[in-house]
Amino acid sequence: MEIRDNLEKVRATLPAGVTLVAVSKTHPVEALKEAYDAGQRIFGENKVQEMTLKSRELPDDIEWHFIGHVQRNKIHLMAPYVSVIQGVGSFEVLAEIDRQAARFGRCITCYLQLHIAQEDTKFGFTPDQCRTMLEEGRWRGLGNIRIGGVMGMATNTDDSAQVMREFQYLKQCFDEYRERFFSGSEDFRTVSAGMSGDYGLAIRAGSTMVRIGSSIFGARDYSNQH
Ligand SMILES: *Cc1c(COP(=O)(O)O)cnc(C)c1O
Repeated sequence: MEIRDNLEKVRATLPAGVTLVAVSKTHPVEALKEAYDAGQRIFGENKVQEMTLKSRELPDDIEWHFIGHVQRNKIHLMAPYVSVIQGVGSFEVLAEIDRQAARFGRCITCYLQLHIAQEDTKFGFTPDQCRTMLEEGRWRGLGNIRIGGVMGMATNTDDSAQVMREFQYLKQCFDEYRERFFSGSEDFRTVSAGMSGDYGLAIRAGSTMVRIGSSIFGARDYSNQH
C-alpha cells in the first residue's frame, strides 16, 4: 500500500487547480493498478510501446499522457487512445499527430514543449521557434489536434534560483502565447512543469500540471531496459 500512501502525500501538497500526472514509466502494470485503485486516472509514460501495452491491460477511463520524445513513426501506435501528447517540439510532429488522429476520428491534445533548461539534452522548441511556428499559423488548419498549453523541464541542478527562473520563463512564454494566439480559446490553459524534485518551485511559478514519478512509485530501475 506504499503507492497509495505516497499518492496521498503528494496530493496533499498540491493546491486546488493543479493536476497530477502519475509518471509510471518503467514500473509494472501492478504498480499502476495500485495507483488506479487509489483514485489516480492520469498516467504519464515516455515510451510508446510500453504505454500501449499498459493501456491494453488497464481500465479504459485512464487518461494516457505521452511525455517522452515524440518519434514521428510511432505516433500511429498511440493515436487510437492517447489523451495528451506533451512533448511536441516541431510543426511537423504536430501535423503528423493531426494526420494520425484523423484516421481514428479523434482530436488529440498537444502541449508545446519549450526548451527552457541550460542543458542540450532536453528536446523542444526554443521560445523563439515556438513563437514563429504560432505566427506562421499553419497549425490553425489542423482540425484533429488541439494545442492545450506548454510543457517544460528545468535544468537538473541544486540551484533553486535558476530552476525558479526557468519555470517563470516558461510561464511568461505561456502568458504571451495565450494572449497573442489563443485569446478567446478555452483550449490553451495548461502549464505542465514540475517533477518529484522541483514541483514545489514549478507551482510557485504558475504550473498547473505536475508530472511526478519517483515520489509516487519509488526509484526507477533501468537495469532490465535496453
Ligand atoms: C520521468 C519524467 C518525469 C518524472 O520524474 P520524477 O523525477 O520521477 O518525478 C517527469 N517528466 C518527464 C518528461 C519525465 O520523463
